[in-house]
Amino acid sequence: MIPSQFDYAAPTTVEEALGLLAGAESAGDDVKLLAGGQSLIPVMKLRMADPSLVVDLGRIPGLSGITDDGASLTIGAMTPHHVVATDPLVAAHVPLLAQAAATVADPQVRHRGTFGGALVHADPAGDMPAPALAVEAVFNLAGPNGNRSVAAADFFQGYFTTAVEEGEILTSITVPKYTGWGSHYGKFTRVAQQWSIVAVAAMVRVEGGVIAEARVGLTNMASTPLRATSTEAALAGCALDATAIAAACAHAAEGTEPASDLNGDADYRRHLVTVVAKRAVMAAAGL
Ligand SMILES: Cc1cc2nc3c(=O)[nH]c(=O)nc-3n(C[C@H](O)[C@H](O)[C@H](O)COP(=O)(O)OP(=O)(O)OC[C@H]3O[C@@H](n4cnc5c(N)ncnc54)[C@H](O)[C@@H]3O)c2cc1C
Repeated sequence: MIPSQFDYAAPTTVEEALGLLAGAESAGDDVKLLAGGQSLIPVMKLRMADPSLVVDLGRIPGLSGITDDGASLTIGAMTPHHVVATDPLVAAHVPLLAQAAATVADPQVRHRGTFGGALVHADPAGDMPAPALAVEAVFNLAGPNGNRSVAAADFFQGYFTTAVEEGEILTSITVPKYTGWGSHYGKFTRVAQQWSIVAVAAMVRVEGGVIAEARVGLTNMASTPLRATSTEAALAGCALDATAIAAACAHAAEGTEPASDLNGDADYRRHLVTVVAKRAVMAAAGL
């Protein structure tokens, strides 16, 4: 498949990119930002997106890379999955993101696809949104009216829909550092390098021989990533014991609305998420 004809611009500053967005939008033209192109290009080839202008963010210095801010890390939106998966700062302070990024597709896609692109694309089966929700990331946006930040809980708004408004660019993601937490991203697929049928992003803090706190994010259990709040509550104070953790994770499907598709129907996913959650929490707790 070949995309429709489009104009291409490669700005070198965020301001120039914002100007191109504003100009196209005021002229009534459909404009799309290009990051790694691993979702946008296929969608354009299928002609499900038909922009008249593509604005490539790849030449803007400063949108890629990871910096240590003291209590948090800032990850540039254009940072490739491969870098998130292998960066020592991420591994040391927010390993959940590294674990999840390492499960995205194959090496080729991980070298081209970006952390920010995956988050804005907001595919319900995408592997980065639920971990971003679990680590309570903050999304930093630049727009025509200046900069603003959006908490993860408010960022994912619906099926392939986020808080990023027309004319805005996601520039970076700020992630708190986690000390004393264990984490694991449990991804259930039918074959290797597949999208998640269901996945669970688990973080636990163990203190005094019990789970003191837990964060559990769910992938592909609704039109947006979700926090499994009933399971998180049940895990607080939970013994480090497979039976007790399984009982807490039996709540993981509460409040979810999974889709039915060729990989499994909604009931299958509601059962599967309890199994994957138990395994992910056990691994995060080092059991
Ligand atoms: C074969 C294949 C297998 C895959 N398997 C998986 C998988 O197992 N798990 C998984 O999670 N993903 C998977 N992906 C998707 C991959 O993670 C993509 O990298 C990701 O979905 C989009 O990131 P991108 O950088 O390529 O963004 P693009 O495709 O360039 O952009 C995606 C969308 O986000 C917008 N956008 C991008 N960056 C910004 C920004 N900074 N600000 C505002 N808007 C922006 C674009 O306009 C576009 O609408 C797969 C992709 C392929 C091709």
